[in-house]
Amino acid sequence: MTRALEDVLSKISAAAEAAGRAPESVQLVAVSKVHGADVITPVLEAGQRLFGENRVQEAADKWPALREQYPDVRLHLIGPLQTNKVRQAVHLFDVIETVDRLKLARTLARIFEEEGIRREVYVQVNVGREEQKAGINPDEADAFIDLCRDELNLPVTGLMCIPPAGEDPAPYFGLLAGIARRNNIGILSMGMSGDFEIAIKHGATHVRVGTAVFGTRPGY
Ligand SMILES: *Cc1c(COP(=O)(O)O)cnc(C)c1O
Repeated sequence: MTRALEDVLSKISAAAEAAGRAPESVQLVAVSKVHGADVITPVLEAGQRLFGENRVQEAADKWPALREQYPDVRLHLIGPLQTNKVRQAVHLFDVIETVDRLKLARTLARIFEEEGIRREVYVQVNVGREEQKAGINPDEADAFIDLCRDELNLPVTGLMCIPPAGEDPAPYFGLLAGIARRNNIGILSMGMSGDFEIAIKHGATHVRVGTAVFGTRPGY
């Protein structure tokens, strides 16, 4: 097993136990964006099967070949999804974590229908109400989730957020957890390399960790 992966997994377990939660209640989404097969393969060899990518085209270039070797891989889309890429995305990804606007929700519903495919979707919430960030405003989240479920019949199983940089993320994680609780949503995708232990304390079920698993991304 790679040292970095081992280290992250043991920190996840410790954080879960410290929060009085079962270690298996938190899953690592290993964020492999930018990295090539040479860097990803040792992590697959070590047994990791759940990965996150933020670009549809990059995932299309990298993952079909890796999936032939590791058929039980599960891939989450964690980056913005343009509506003209939805058809490609639903064939590549098992979960779309970034449903952040009505037009995308409608397009997903239509493409699921046309392709005879259904994928779990998470609603991305703009917890910091940041202009430059994607996501549904927290005040509009309940109505948006209802619409996705009732009108569009989308399987909304999770919520996802990226808190504002340089601030204490805890209140933002708490905000997301509250929205999940009152909407009966069991999955909380929150926490990255710098704050996944805090996210686990606040109920994260999926932590999206890149740098701490794979090292610094080339070009960043
Ligand atoms: C890149 C990325 C991550 C992982 O970030 P690290 O700080 O490298 O762990 C998590 N979530 C999203 C949405 C990302 O784009």
